[in-house]
Amino acid sequence: MRIAVIGAGITGVTTAYALARRGHAVSVYERRRYAGMLTSYANGGQFSVSNSEVWNTWPNVVKGMKWMLRKDAPLLIHPSPSLAKYKWIAEFLLNTINGTYERHTIETIRLGLRSRELYFQIAEEEGIAFDLTRKGILHVYKDEFYFKAALRANASIYKQTGVGRTVLDPAGVKAIEPRLEADGVIGGIHTPEDATGDIHKFCVGLADVLASKYGVSFHYEAEAPDLAALTREHDAVAICAGVESAALSRQAGDPLNIYPVKGYSITIEADPDTIPQVSLLDDEAKIVSCKLGSRFRVAGTAELAGIDYDIPHARVQPLVNWVRRNFPSMSTEHVEPWAGLRPMTPSMLPVVRRSRNPKVYFNTGHGHLGWTLSAATAELIADEIESTAQAAP
Ligand SMILES: Cc1cc2nc3c(=O)[nH]c(=O)nc-3n(C[C@H](O)[C@H](O)[C@H](O)COP(=O)(O)OP(=O)(O)OC[C@H]3O[C@@H](n4cnc5c(N)ncnc54)[C@H](O)[C@@H]3O)c2cc1C
Repeated sequence: MRIAVIGAGITGVTTAYALARRGHAVSVYERRRYAGMLTSYANGGQFSVSNSEVWNTWPNVVKGMKWMLRKDAPLLIHPSPSLAKYKWIAEFLLNTINGTYERHTIETIRLGLRSRELYFQIAEEEGIAFDLTRKGILHVYKDEFYFKAALRANASIYKQTGVGRTVLDPAGVKAIEPRLEADGVIGGIHTPEDATGDIHKFCVGLADVLASKYGVSFHYEAEAPDLAALTREHDAVAICAGVESAALSRQAGDPLNIYPVKGYSITIEADPDTIPQVSLLDDEAKIVSCKLGSRFRVAGTAELAGIDYDIPHARVQPLVNWVRRNFPSMSTEHVEPWAGLRPMTPSMLPVVRRSRNPKVYFNTGHGHLGWTLSAATAELIADEIESTAQAAP
């Protein structure tokens, strides 16, 4: 079949890969000059099956309301009026009221486990170098409330799904990551099977393999033609356009509630002796970190502000302060800031299905876990396209 993919972020390149491997003729349309230049550029780097909890809980809602008043808060909701934002918040609350937390978290964990396996296979088989580190993720706690909540999730959800998690006392935390300034740490959880890697390098590496080995044609710096034209020329079209998927879904006559949830990262070219070897997750600050070769990446914060790529100093400084507090010997003289928009659904689950337009398919809305989940959802949408799309005679 002839299949068009819109977007060459992580969802687009993995979708193109799943389809091309099955022998389909794939064309990718990407507005930017290279693959992985938008949200799939400088994220937290974590394949974090162990961080699969969806955000639809009452404690998160209460925290969100308190944080609205603080400029440096991990979550910020800009009060400016916007129908899309309020519609998204309303549906988020509906998911919270309906108690979807446990079911959606388990679904996310299962996708993450499958996806991680696929990434390792793809990287090995196609020879993609992307600073992969397989040393797990260390969740660090300084606050009793957050530690107890994590232990509850540990007992009820992660055990059911067979995710390996080791509970640690402060000495255990220090033993796993000696570079961490562990003053005030009351405990931790280590998830040894988790991994990290550079999403941008992976996207570029996979796009190169797709073009050279699988004959996929990439149209860079090219706005995808409108869906009417694309569906005339192709047997199927996969929308993998990140935060732009909402607009495209309206063209398909099947509007999706996907809102851009902004986050920031900093990348530090640091003295290798000062970079922690294990990826960290600070649950209270909502900050993650990882080592990417000779670089240290720190990412976090969530902001509901529409399509906006500005990088205000006040939003990046908490990430720099976090590094200074936790790794006092690391120099923060040269820090590269970045902002990206998570394509987030109110249920926190990606949309992986055929649309109401029978030739158009969605693999989008992966929110805060697009890196973790995309290899698996790419296979799911390829299955769906193969079982429902009709090849033109
Ligand atoms: C601060 C931050 C930290 C994060 N940390 C993690 C993490 O540690 N682990 C994790 O799993 N996830 C993380 N994420 C989430 C993850 O990065 C995203 O879910 C993922 O990158 C989204 O990929 P995508 O392919 O859906 O979107 P994108 O990467 O944005 O790709 C969409 C592409 O479509 C193109 N496009 C859109 N419309 C058109 C059009 N009409 N024509 C042509 N091209 C078009 C765009 O140019 C873009 O390149 C983080 C996100 C942020 C912001």
